[in-house]
This record gives sequence, C-alpha cells and structure tokens, in this order.
Amino acid sequence: MKKTTGMDRATTRNWRPATQAVRGGTWRSEHGETSEALFLTSGYTYDDAQTVADRFAGEAEGMTYSRLQNPTVAMLEERIALMEGAEACRAQASGMAAMTAALLCQLSAGDHVVAARAAFGSCRWLVDHLLPRFGIETSVIDSADDAAWEAAIRPNTKVFFFETPANPTLDIVDLKHVCDLAKAHGITTVVDNAFASPALQRPMEFGADVVAYSATKLMDGQGRVLAGAICGSEEWVNETLMPFQRNTGPTISAFNAWVVHKGLETLSLRAHQQSRNAVALGEFLEPRVTKAGGHMRHPGLPSHARHNLALSQMEATGPIFAFDVGTRECAFQILNGLELVDISNNIGDARSLMCHPASTTHANMGEEAREEMGVSEGLLRINVGLEDIADLTEDMDRALSAAGM
Ligand SMILES: *Cc1c(COP(=O)(O)O)cnc(C)c1O
Repeated sequence: MKKTTGMDRATTRNWRPATQAVRGGTWRSEHGETSEALFLTSGYTYDDAQTVADRFAGEAEGMTYSRLQNPTVAMLEERIALMEGAEACRAQASGMAAMTAALLCQLSAGDHVVAARAAFGSCRWLVDHLLPRFGIETSVIDSADDAAWEAAIRPNTKVFFFETPANPTLDIVDLKHVCDLAKAHGITTVVDNAFASPALQRPMEFGADVVAYSATKLMDGQGRVLAGAICGSEEWVNETLMPFQRNTGPTISAFNAWVVHKGLETLSLRAHQQSRNAVALGEFLEPRVTKAGGHMRHPGLPSHARHNLALSQMEATGPIFAFDVGTRECAFQILNGLELVDISNNIGDARSLMCHPASTTHANMGEEAREEMGVSEGLLRINVGLEDIADLTEDMDRALSAAGM
C-alpha cells in the first residue's frame, strides 16, 4: 500500500485530533477504496494448515474468527483509541456490554468496588445486583463529595466506577482528584464517559485507567445502532480484558462498527455544536424554571455547583442537561406540549429528545435509590440536538406555557 493509512501508529500518533477523526484507523484493501470497507464475515480462510496453526498459537499476525477480530471492527477500535489517547481499545456490542465486561473481566469474589450513586439505571443494577451475586462487595457514594471516595476505600477495594457527567443528574466527578486517590491505593478507575465522548473529555489525561463507552450515544450520534467500547493500556486490554472478551463474546457486529466508525468523522463537530445549543437552551429555560420553583442541573451554566470544574476538565459541557419542575404531572404536561422535540429516552442523537427518567430509564431501580441519587418525580432530561436554536426555544416556550409555567 503506497498511501498512508490510519493503522500505522508511528505515523498516526503525530496527527492532530481532527485528522485522527477522519483518517485514524483507516485500513485499505487492495482495491484502494476511499471509504472504509464493511467486512461482513464471521470467519477467515488460510492458504495452508501451518498458517492457521501459527495464528491460533499467537505466533503469526492475522485474523481467525470475528468474535476475536474483524477488519471493520479493528478500524473502529484504532480510531477510538487514537481519539481517546489510549494505547488500546476493544469495541463492544453495546454500552452495557462494555460496562459489564470492564468490571467482570477484572473482579473476583472478595473484591470491593466503590461506585458513584448517580449512574445510568443499568450501571446501578450491575453494582447493586449483579456484582454482589458473585461475592463482590460494593459501596455506593455521592461522587461529587471528594472526601467520600477516600472514606469508602477498604483493603480489598479493586475498582472505582463512575460517570461524569452522570446520567441523569449531571453530577460532575473531579477526575484528577479521584484518579490520583485511586493510583495511591492501587485501585483501577473505570470511567463511563458516554455523556462526553472523547471529543469533549479524555479521562486518561487526568489519570483514568479504563474508559468505557456507550457508543450508541454521541459516537454514532444519529440514533442508528447500539455499540460500546473499552479503552485501556495495551497490557490491561490484552491480559485482563481479552481473556474475558474472547470467551464470553460481547462482540460488536461489523455492520454496527462500520456505522459508528462513520459517526466518528463528525463527532467533534456535532458534540461542540450540540453543547452550544444545550447552553443556549439552558439559558432560555433557567429563569422560567427557577421562577416556577424548579431548578436546573446543567454543567454548562454557572448555577451548577461544579460548573468551573466541568469547564476545567471538558472542552464543552455536552448536549445533555436536566431540570426539575416539581411534579410528575407538570413534567408530563411539558413533554406532551412539545411539537418539535421528541419524547424519547435516547441521548447523543442529532435530534433533540426529552424524557422523564423516573418513569423510564430509572424506573426499575425503586423509589429509594431514585431519591438518593436525585432522580425526582419532576425531573426532565433533554438531549439537545442540531436543530436551529430558535426552533428549539420556540418549542420549549410552547411546552412550558402548556404546563402553566
Ligand atoms: C446509555 C448509557 C449506557 C448503556 O449503553 P447502551 O449502549 O444503551 O447499552 C451506559 N452508561 C451511560 C452513561 C449511558 O448513557
């Protein structure tokens, strides 16, 4: 191959981020196709018996089976690793496949996990219900309380697990503080970075060991496929994650990997523009919401308790924020009054989507856990898309008026 492709680390690591987003991980076949090819194959053939024996023995490069490697998936993994600044990445079938693998691949009975209480509902389920079934102890803390992290450490603490910003309360974790603390105690930090994506926040720059993604969200960004990813050091990925992954099979389909790979080309543009729209819409909403006795949960607004921290560790604060309007009745009236913004529980999409977490994404966890993490009955979460901000504010104005706000 004459022309540089994006698989050669010696070249690609010197590319600037915008170049990596459109060229990183590109691997061209002998046809020299411009856009990355979609390899829909489960298996591979070999010229002779020794070749396959060598590959299975790990003594020769090359693919053997798509649960383990696939050219399209490899292109996605290389591009995410470059954008993240990670040594290695493995794509996963979904965000939850990624979170489950990132935890179970390294935990054993008798270990202890400290997790943030504000989290995506299924992430809380892993911590509250799955891990304890296998003899793994868990503590759930207020992640915005810096001292709570240290207080929760036990001699057997193996992992810190948290999101920042967190779903759906937009709690912000001090990445540097928590990662430094983990390092001092030999604890592995696993950061769910779905709300930010590598375009807005790269936790490894603050010392995170493992960064896990729902790539369904901003990375695809157009609401098409489920996908996930786990980034870490070469050693951790090869020696800790891969034995789990190759034998349990949370593998992404090549088609979904290809869709996400294409999404990464525009990730930064979308994430920044959606962040700008989210700040503008938040500024529009704040006086109306506070006048009605409610409050905003928006890391991009000065009213957020950790606004300055958010700005110091993120390039922009992302497309998602939440606001409390007091009661479920009022929240439902606002949702039902929307004409442009869809009622939908997805996030990261280029379309604006709004939902009521207490009755949807966080319905299964029980009232007590919801209350503890701040998912109140009046809370609404919005993913702000790429529509014209004037249309979005007009729609929100109409919906608030319909709810008497
Ligand atoms: C959506 C989401 C997940 C789960 O991802 P899926 O792709 O839906 O499996 C995990 N963590 C966070 C923060 C999310 O927003």
